[in-house]
Amino acid sequence: MEDTNLGESGYTDRHVHLFMEGQPLTASETDRFTKILLEFNIKEIYDMGSRDGLGFQLRRYLESTSIALKTCGYALFREGGYGSFLGMPVKDRGDIKRHINELYRRGADFIKVINSGIISTEGRVTEGGFSQEELRIIVEEAHEKGLQVFCHVSAAERIIEALNAGVDSVEHGFFMTEEALHMMKEKTVSWTPTIYALICFANTLSGRNRDVLEGIVRDHMKMVSLSKQLGVRINIGSDSGASGIRHGEAFFEEKKILFNI
Ligand SMILES: [Zn+2]
Repeated sequence: MEDTNLGESGYTDRHVHLFMEGQPLTASETDRFTKILLEFNIKEIYDMGSRDGLGFQLRRYLESTSIALKTCGYALFREGGYGSFLGMPVKDRGDIKRHINELYRRGADFIKVINSGIISTEGRVTEGGFSQEELRIIVEEAHEKGLQVFCHVSAAERIIEALNAGVDSVEHGFFMTEEALHMMKEKTVSWTPTIYALICFANTLSGRNRDVLEGIVRDHMKMVSLSKQLGVRINIGSDSGASGIRHGEAFFEEKKILFNI
């Protein structure tokens, strides 16, 4: 895999949460967070959103350091579905327009949209996500403002829907398919597979649930391998900040896995 992360000038972690062990970063933890990133030579991070738009404040704070923070501010999720701690609920076209205008005005670097839930302990994808039409409107509104759309999405059909709607990046993409990878190659959509985070989750389980999750990890690795053969652009994103996923460290774990597949 092509190393787009130049070690000397610093690494880019393409999928970070401004959380510590699953809890939003407090003001007193900001210095520690900054120190960890500098220690690991991570000089650019992409914040995947928090309900209160912490990324906007932190981006300003980091201006005095050598770390560049790219933020979506807050993510957009379908009202009633997964995503409440990452962003704001959206229920119709009016909401979509209002939020994208607001994010644009506040200087969001990209739009993050949630188009599925997460993997449950039984290995299923939980509820969440938009209709194809809603997602298409989000992408249209974002692109009109020159903003790319990063899409949290797992489950084969939801990934295909996201690709049809025109998203620019697939985040996680568990239950990826060969068909979806071909579409990604064609549409130059990149993929942030967050494998290490999936492995960490599997490791918290036991018995049958663990076996199921380990199977999902293996399938995920096969798809990453195929994506490399096809020339789909892969991003190194750690999902750090989530519980059990440590900033800095997780980036290098993810990098190692991706390079060894
Ligand atoms: Zn994430």
